[in-house]
Amino acid sequence: MVKRFTVDCWECEGHGKYTIGHPNDPSSQENDCLSCHGTGRVVVEDYYNDLAELLEDYPSAKEYEE
Ligand SMILES: [Zn+2]
Repeated sequence: MVKRFTVDCWECEGHGKYTIGHPNDPSSQENDCLSCHGTGRVVVEDYYNDLAELLEDYPSAKEYEE
């Protein structure tokens, strides 16, 4: 069956933000990650029989909650 779950965003590694410029530079800007819209999590849908199988492929996966 199709499982819907969330994983850490691969763009920002779950931080939800990315920084333009060097983090120590006062003129650098923090922006919401475009891939996860600042949540740090992205929703994935895929076919899995059970959660254990899913976790083998996606160790950071959590069951999606509305
Ligand atoms: Zn992200």
